[in-house]
Amino acid sequence: MRIGVTGSSGFIGSNFIHYLLSNPEINEELFIVNIDKLTYAGAGKNILHMFKETHNKKFLTHYKFVRADICDFKTIDLIVQTFKLDCIVNFAAESHNSYAILNPSVFFKTNLMGTQTLLEVVRKNNLRFHHISTCEVYGDLALDSKEEFKEDSSYRPNTPYNASKAAADLAVRAYVRTFNVKATISNCGNNYGSYQFPEKLIPLFVTNLLENKKIPLYKQSQNKREWIHVKDHCSAVYKILKYGKIGETYNIGSGVEKSIEEITTIILKYLGKSEDMKEYVDDRPGHDRRYLLDSTKIFKELGWKPVIDFENGIKETIEWYKKNKKWWLPLKQKQMIQENKWGEKNKSEE
Ligand code: NAD
Repeated sequence: MRIGVTGSSGFIGSNFIHYLLSNPEINEELFIVNIDKLTYAGAGKNILHMFKETHNKKFLTHYKFVRADICDFKTIDLIVQTFKLDCIVNFAAESHNSYAILNPSVFFKTNLMGTQTLLEVVRKNNLRFHHISTCEVYGDLALDSKEEFKEDSSYRPNTPYNASKAAADLAVRAYVRTFNVKATISNCGNNYGSYQFPEKLIPLFVTNLLENKKIPLYKQSQNKREWIHVKDHCSAVYKILKYGKIGETYNIGSGVEKSIEEITTIILKYLGKSEDMKEYVDDRPGHDRRYLLDSTKIFKELGWKPVIDFENGIKETIEWYKKNKKWWLPLKQKQMIQENKWGEKNKSEE
């Protein structure tokens, strides 16, 4: 299979390519083209770093990188034809909820119009398409709710990031129904693991503490997320790409729920730092309370399940950041947001 993977210079996409080219259980011949615009979030040279780290030379023979914007129809169409791609997996997105509050336009441009442009390309070239989405499209749950989001739950996004992702999902559905595009969608919980840009909660807190800096906790620190290891997300996406039913949506969750406060305690304890390193800050506007997915469908229909235990996964992740300061230190200069400055410096640019 010849796969175009958009946004694979970022966190999950780069892990996905590494997963495809290093997993001995995948026994089909794969050729992968990473299509990425290289925004600030794609500046980590992840692919090169991770293949070197694992002494895997497959990226020299089974992989190509092309710098391109998913909003650019002509270039994406040319890439598809040049590399004779069979399918596209779309990870490309503006992905930072906090940054979306400062600059919502770029989120709708890439996340919605970029996805719609890709849909036009796959429609023209009759390709298989898989779209990566998020649990956040369903809105949020009360902290004590017994509900879990199912694939047919209503879409009630609360933030510009969530709304742009929700709009993209609807575009994919419309192209399946109207143009018979061979597409699937997956909605995943919060990912953690190595190579995540140090603006997101776990890498931000770990790297701040490694630099002896305070960690900014939103005051609503009892808000909860469902945490899944990035490698489990990657195995689920491959399963859907191979065996998912066209037109279907699959939730990808682990069932592991932890509050921001609990995650903070784990990190502080592991790094031997004191509670004094916490700095409670104003929540960003629209901060969701809780997300939890019902992932029964992918468990039952595709036989997928997560295999990475949270306690081990988080320790391994913290260790990775300890060992890879050279990777994350330059990226910290590229952060778009100061989480302790809501209401002050982080004013809307619009
Ligand atoms: P990321 O920000 O680390 O990476 C995004 C990549 O997309 C970057 O390499 C960036 O350069 C690229 N990109 C941005 N705009 C582009 C454009 N116009 N054209 C081409 N490339 C562009 O994000 P991530 O955390 O790896 O997330 C990947 C996908 O997974 C996103 O669609 C996100 O919504 C979804 N997702 C993420 C999580 C999570 O916890 N990180 C959870 C659920 C779903």
